[in-house]
Amino acid sequence: MIYLDNAATTRVFDCAANAAVGAMTAEYFNPNATYKSGVLVREKLERDRKTIASIIGARPDELFFTSCATESNNWVFASGIKNKKGNIVITAGEHSSVYEPAMQLKSRGCDVRIAPLTKGGAVDADALCRLVDDSTALVSVIHVSNETGVINDIKRIAAAIKAKNPRTLIHSDGVQGLIKVGMPLRDSGVDFYSASAHKLGAPKGIGLLYIRNGINVSPLILGGGQERGLRSGTQNTPYIAAFAAAVDELSRQNDRNKISAIRADLCEFFAAHGCRAIGDGENSGYILCVCVPGAKAEILQNILHDKGIIVGKGAACSGAKRGNRVLEAMGIAAKDVECCVRISFFADTSADDALAAAQAIITAAKQIGSKYVK
Ligand code: PLP
Repeated sequence: MIYLDNAATTRVFDCAANAAVGAMTAEYFNPNATYKSGVLVREKLERDRKTIASIIGARPDELFFTSCATESNNWVFASGIKNKKGNIVITAGEHSSVYEPAMQLKSRGCDVRIAPLTKGGAVDADALCRLVDDSTALVSVIHVSNETGVINDIKRIAAAIKAKNPRTLIHSDGVQGLIKVGMPLRDSGVDFYSASAHKLGAPKGIGLLYIRNGINVSPLILGGGQERGLRSGTQNTPYIAAFAAAVDELSRQNDRNKISAIRADLCEFFAAHGCRAIGDGENSGYILCVCVPGAKAEILQNILHDKGIIVGKGAACSGAKRGNRVLEAMGIAAKDVECCVRISFFADTSADDALAAAQAIITAAKQIGSKYVK
């Protein structure tokens, strides 16, 4: 099988699966128990936190484990600005786990402002800064678009926002950027950063929220006071062990130049066949959104699936919804949005597999009668 829907989820690394099994079957004790076996599990949990923190350039006490990035994003919107009045700025390129909490605040009377995207797929940073004023409590800017792979220069954007209003808190959804784009969080200038393990070679159901040291937030989930009182619920030690193992493995395997070269070759291949890559802003290299004119992505996806090739067609979690808010915000016509296939790579993707998938897409497009594909 050729699997190229890694922006939706990744295969779990063997080392991560083994780490989880060990924590489930041997070191299964509650990390908050006060007897020795529990204390040892707690120590392992803190070592895992430290491993992740050192690789992503944060302090261990700035990382809070959550159930997923959707929870992390919701937490920022529910709690991060709780006592702050004022407006919120998001970009038109946000994942639904940022967009929907923002819309909920809007429906409750909060002033939510949406910064436009450029045709290239990044946020229009000048337009975003113009929306920030003395009353801006929170700005949320996705690090790498899950639709196009286009990078927002969050460091530069954060500096510009803080220059305008140093009290504004800055959040970035880093699900598609962490490790892959490689930026120490301590240098990013953001106050919050969300991540999800299943995009990095670990299981689904574990994520984290980075909260810069000194930033006060209130908990989203109340209970036993785990995670220093900010995220109750017994920590998912098997998946945290897997998360740490995967982050460690991916940080060794990650070769952005190799992946970017595979992506560039595919862009050239598709262009030669009358298809265009969507979003020409700086790219992480891991995602290629390509418009195959005259061929509906859903049909292509199913034909390819029958041949053992899996590609995506936009955010899997919004798969049931029609249209695509983010691609439309880039000015892509609705008829073209329907024809956008999302091909996404991981550390182990080979150039041969990527080319085989691209060739299969062109063959399938011709098979279903696209007049535009060459
Ligand atoms: N943010 C982005 C950019 C994503 O791509 C995804 C998942 O596709 C999420 C958030 C949600 O992550 P999770 O599945 O961990 O809730």
